[in-house]
Amino acid sequence: MSIANPKVGFVSLGCPKALVDSERILTQLKVEGYDLVPSYDDADVVVVNTCGFIDSAVAESLDAIGEAMAENGKVIVTGCLGKREEVIREAHPGVLSISGPQDYASVMRAVHTALPPRHDPFVDLVPDHGLKLTPKHYAYLKISEGCNHRCSFCIIPSMRGDLASRPVDQVLREAEKLAMGGVKELLVISQDTSAYGVDLRYAEREWRGKAYQTRMKALCEGLSELGLWTRLHYVYPYPHVDDVIPLMAEGKLLPYLDIPFQHASPRILKLMKRPGAVDKTLERIQRWRDICPDITIRSTFIVGFPGETDAEFEALLDFLEEAQLDRVGAFAYSPVEGAAANDLPDAVPEEVKQERLARFMELQADISTAKLEAKVGTTQRCLVDAIDGDLAIARSMADAPEIDGLVQIQNGFEAGLKPGEFVDVEIMGSDEHDLYGEVAFGD
Ligand code: SF4
Repeated sequence: MSIANPKVGFVSLGCPKALVDSERILTQLKVEGYDLVPSYDDADVVVVNTCGFIDSAVAESLDAIGEAMAENGKVIVTGCLGKREEVIREAHPGVLSISGPQDYASVMRAVHTALPPRHDPFVDLVPDHGLKLTPKHYAYLKISEGCNHRCSFCIIPSMRGDLASRPVDQVLREAEKLAMGGVKELLVISQDTSAYGVDLRYAEREWRGKAYQTRMKALCEGLSELGLWTRLHYVYPYPHVDDVIPLMAEGKLLPYLDIPFQHASPRILKLMKRPGAVDKTLERIQRWRDICPDITIRSTFIVGFPGETDAEFEALLDFLEEAQLDRVGAFAYSPVEGAAANDLPDAVPEEVKQERLARFMELQADISTAKLEAKVGTTQRCLVDAIDGDLAIARSMADAPEIDGLVQIQNGFEAGLKPGEFVDVEIMGSDEHDLYGEVAFGD
């Protein structure tokens, strides 16, 4: 008679960093012989990995816990919101256990208590590269935790602590395993990618017989040995970001930089506790484009920060017009419990914030549309994500998964494309977000 494996349900919320935590926990569960099931009904216990970054994420996490409690009743909570145990206990007193981000040991302890593992020497073997929640051909590579900055709108440092980098050889070995497991694109993530290694004093380690420093540029050089697409996210605008642009020009790193500028007014940047030399920022963007003309720059901004005047908002629009960034995300400022910015005077009224956000997005929509239109008639190297009827849904080097646009390949199915394949695409059309084209068959 065969005995069924214990069954765990898993709900993963939040940012790509939380997704990496979920992948680690899922891998461990599988190693220990737990089955992962997609419905509350089938699960013996449910793990909810929460997000606690902004108020709407807190509400979403609390809703997810509530749903799991109502549908299943045995719930283990982990992740960022776990740092605020009292908030969870107040809303859902019956949860079995609460732990913070990266606390894999606590999650596993709670699972063992609620649902002891079945002792079976023939448990499923996990592939060497672990289990991934993302499609097989791209993976997030977390290089550090925490952050040494203290941006006044952010509570991540109080939840995740100061920067703690993973030594470079460890990261490179993980990337190597992912490559062997079929991954074609690595998305390098952290809270602050450009600070990588400063806490380890840029310790030198060996990988494949060669010395590498634990430092952003050396990491990128190591990753380039794997021949994958490597994309950098969450790069804080330090001057030494300039060092990696030549690697992009040489084709060693995707010509893509996700660099949150947050604002353009020196006074508001100072209130945010962010670097504030805006004229230098525009110069630097120009320099990057001189070195690597194909670079895609993605950024995020906050409008309606406390004290933002009409003139400061206009300065932000001027910056946007001048910088001509490719991809931009923007948020109307919303107070996050525990953030220093909550104590700043002169909150901007909600309707003004929304009106500014709309104007900001309207301007950026025109910029993005024009930038994409300029690609019509070019050939773009793309990575196929999925086949949908006749279409192949792909991304160019300029598109990170989830947050940027897509390239719809009209004859993708006919051309026999498969997810995870690279293909050259002739671009024939565009809109505000996406590109449309056909497989380029060459001469
Ligand atoms: S750099 Fe990012 S994670 Fe660090 S404090 Fe600022 S916003 Fe938060």
